[in-house]
Amino acid sequence: MQLEFDNRFVNELPGDSTGALQSRQTPDVCWSAAHPTQVSKPALLTYSREVAELLDLPEEHIRSDAFLAAFSGNRLLPGMNPYAARYGGHQFGSWAGQLGDGRAISLGEAINSQGQRWELQLKGAGITPYSRRADGRAVLRSSLREFLCSEAMHHLGIPTTRALSLIATGEPVMRDMLYDGNPEMEPGAIVCRVSKSFIRFGNFEILASYGERDLLNRLVAFTMDRDFPEIDKLSSDRFSIWFRTVCERTARLIVEWLRVGFVHGVMNTDNMSILGITIDYGPYGWVDNFDPGWTPNTTDADWHRYALARQPSIARWNLERLADAMEAVAPSRSVLDEGLAHFDHVFESALSSMLAAKFGLLQIRNEDASLFEDAFELLHKANVDMTEFFRSLADVKRNAPDLAVLKSAFYDASLYRDHEKTFTAWLNRYAARLSQQQRSDEERRLAMNAVNPRFVLRNYLAQQAIDAATKNDMSVLERLMDAARHPYDEGIPPDLTAKRPDWAIDKPGCSMLSCSS
Ligand code: AMP
Ligand code: MG
Repeated sequence: MQLEFDNRFVNELPGDSTGALQSRQTPDVCWSAAHPTQVSKPALLTYSREVAELLDLPEEHIRSDAFLAAFSGNRLLPGMNPYAARYGGHQFGSWAGQLGDGRAISLGEAINSQGQRWELQLKGAGITPYSRRADGRAVLRSSLREFLCSEAMHHLGIPTTRALSLIATGEPVMRDMLYDGNPEMEPGAIVCRVSKSFIRFGNFEILASYGERDLLNRLVAFTMDRDFPEIDKLSSDRFSIWFRTVCERTARLIVEWLRVGFVHGVMNTDNMSILGITIDYGPYGWVDNFDPGWTPNTTDADWHRYALARQPSIARWNLERLADAMEAVAPSRSVLDEGLAHFDHVFESALSSMLAAKFGLLQIRNEDASLFEDAFELLHKANVDMTEFFRSLADVKRNAPDLAVLKSAFYDASLYRDHEKTFTAWLNRYAARLSQQQRSDEERRLAMNAVNPRFVLRNYLAQQAIDAATKNDMSVLERLMDAARHPYDEGIPPDLTAKRPDWAIDKPGCSMLSCSS
């Protein structure tokens, strides 16, 4: 199998190259050498043909013994130089000190035939110096969710890490899924994640926290150079342009999450990519019945810190922590404050453009803000499915608005009746607004259906794929992958676009998830 590697992260930044795996603090380095721990009976469960193509890997290579050995962590390919990254993070609002890749091992930075750099990283490949007391492994259910969701996000057009392969290790892993004192053995798995960079806010924070200023400077220079090649190397404002770009991309990412109703679930600063892409899929979810306070993460059930509508302010808070870390190396504090203010500005304008597109408006006017707000308030009060609502809204006729068109989006017939009047009043306002623009119903329908997905990876669907995969049946996963490839298309099988069924309301994995993975 031919993959070419150019491992800049390990070649250009200092690391602990002893290869020792025992848990420890690793001052003064950005990474530690860590070989994956071998597994006994690896088996390829599935792979992404789009990511394989990115890496110029034809199907026969993916199905080869060499691939299985390399991507289960059993044998390195020539040119691989495995390491775990050192990073820290603010978790649930508090500084948590050194975290690092406790179960992720980067194999190397592959260069494809187009000259693109794609770092390959195994998640669940065994312990590293950052594993603390944990086992370095991952279970099938969380690995399958990460695999599916990374690819689903990509096809929705949302920046994300990608996933190449999902491999069963053949080895059981002990987990207490519900955190109720009943640990059980579960099948283990390894996902190969693929990204232009795996650098997180936490990689910078740990250096600032240890007072390693020179190294922080080096990591910033490295990141700008490798991961932000579009920023002019000779510009005297290079740092401020870079920080502004990070803030801008983060703002745009959050707007995209809101567009599709995605809740990350664990927006700790160690789970924030410096590229502004979605990273670290854990107890994430898509909102079914619209609720701004909804979080899928059971660990967050008391605070709702990472709930749907709090994601913008949390992203900003995380950027503030990144700014604090950068104080030691930034030309001035005001450069950082300007970046943060830029976040606010970009977020506001990207949010209103996104909402205009979601509602099918060509231009935004001041009074539209209340039209949107009132809609979301009604969706919440009347228990309406967000995804289905926006697809149905596209079918509304501006000269003959009819609430019946939206009826299928309601979860509860009695709430439909209770809110029929107020909803109809809102719909008439909406239709009147549509009549003020030069756009036919059909043009608007097509435009709305290009931004409002028909298919999102609802938690209960992912759980069905997990239940089947646990019985060695990958067909449900493959069906979901097929739908995820065309999330805006009409032709998706209706059982994959249906609102959450009632049985899924309380079933573990279908509405709420623990961090256990
Ligand atoms: P997460 O909440 O998944 O982003 O993980 C937070 C930190 O815990 C990261 O440093 C992970 O590498 C580490 N971690 C989570 N699960 C494990 C595990 N099973 N073994 C080792 N480290 C882990
Ligand atoms: Mg993480």
